[in-house]
Amino acid sequence: MCVYCRIRPADHLDHIVPISRGGANALANIAPACTPCGTSKGALTVAEWVTVLAAEIAAGCGSPVAAAAGQTSPYLPVGPATVRRPRDT
Ligand SMILES: [Zn+2]
Repeated sequence: MCVYCRIRPADHLDHIVPISRGGANALANIAPACTPCGTSKGALTVAEWVTVLAAEIAAGCGSPVAAAAGQTSPYLPVGPATVRRPRDT
């Protein structure tokens, strides 16, 4: 199970603090993640990534990753985006 979205199965190990950002290649810095979350997070730290996801959600243009993370991730301090739909009438 991916530690970030807690929806998809993990298919790789992600460095919580990327090696390129000074993170250690140690067990405490490695977490199982899914490809969509790993790709979205990229070389960001979790704190930076959460900021990006929160901004996407606040703008109402969140990616599926952001929407999933907003609903399930303990890393994300905000709720899921509110989807506005045009009235049917
Ligand atoms: Zn994930």
